Amino acid sequence: MVNRLMLWAADNPRLERTIHNNKAFGRIVHRFIAGDELEDALGAAKELNAKGIGGITDLLGEGVADLAGAAEARIEYLRAISAIAEQQLDASVSLKLSQLGLVIDPSVCAENLAMILDQASELGVPVEVDMEQSELVEATLKVFREAADKHPESRLAIQANLRRTPTDLDAMAAIKPRVRLVKGAYAEPLDKALQSKKEVTAQFMHLTDWLFEHGSQPAFGTHDSSCIEHAEHVAARSGFGKQDFEIQMLYGIRRDLQETLTKEGYRVRVYIPYGSAWYPYLMRRMAEKPTNLVFFLRSLVGK
Ligand SMILES: Cc1cc2nc3c(=O)[nH]c(=O)nc-3n(C[C@H](O)[C@H](O)[C@H](O)COP(=O)(O)OP(=O)(O)OC[C@H]3O[C@@H](n4cnc5c(N)ncnc54)[C@H](O)[C@@H]3O)c2cc1C
Repeated sequence: MVNRLMLWAADNPRLERTIHNNKAFGRIVHRFIAGDELEDALGAAKELNAKGIGGITDLLGEGVADLAGAAEARIEYLRAISAIAEQQLDASVSLKLSQLGLVIDPSVCAENLAMILDQASELGVPVEVDMEQSELVEATLKVFREAADKHPESRLAIQANLRRTPTDLDAMAAIKPRVRLVKGAYAEPLDKALQSKKEVTAQFMHLTDWLFEHGSQPAFGTHDSSCIEHAEHVAARSGFGKQDFEIQMLYGIRRDLQETLTKEGYRVRVYIPYGSAWYPYLMRRMAEKPTNLVFFLRSLVGK
């Protein structure tokens, strides 16, 4: 109930304006978001690198209004890639196709993505593509599949909660896809997505097995200890080393576990959001954990 409400709030522009302009939220924003600028995300990546943890920079934003906005986002992603290479950081760049114009013109989006992937592969910076709400899944898969022919090193996020996902993965088996498996952060209707945590976790584990068998260098974007332990067991059972797959977590969440896993020899990477368009991202984090909501409400009353 609370999480449905927060996911509804994530899509509400009026609430967004009110909360965005309220300075009282600074404390909670900075817990989950590195800062407004790319330099803030790079600084966070540097700190993580010093602990043996990789970074994934993420320019916040949920779609653009026109192709000029998509071109701006492309320039910002290219700037992030150059800076990561120049500063020799262990960091990849994650992007949203809606920011590159997917909804406005998929062919322009594909061109924008191609330019980014060409520069990234030249500079040796890995790129990952986020998965957005279910209406965009078909188009995202299509653009990614075409791009992956030339750049098989790119990685795609896949959501375990969607009913279609096992079929989508089977359709990609021939290319041994590089996937970041996540549970799924969006409110989706019953006909499109599993609704209970138990079902989603079971599907996540089933798809973990699939990825070790049919994917390459799988990544698991989760803070759920049972899912992480499952991945560790399947890896060990199937002859994969601790560095042959990645455990990915979000900035500001379960830092203790990030460090413990790194010390145990696992490859860990943290997703570092930056930018001023933080509102929908923050609301999705609130939805995932009710205690965050308490922290959020306390910020509002200044406690
Ligand atoms: C690296 C990464 C990339 C992602 N990319 C995408 C994407 O492209 N598309 C997409 O739809 N989703 C994405 N997600 C979000 C994902 O779908 C889930 O919504 C999110 O990870 C919470 O699910 P969980 O697997 O951690 O399990 P949950 O069952 O939600 O959580 C397990 C435990 O983790 C901790 N935890 C989880 N969330 C929070 C939180 N917000 N605050 C504090 N503690 C928390 C709690 O201890 C909780 O008990 C990504 C997640 C990660 C880690």
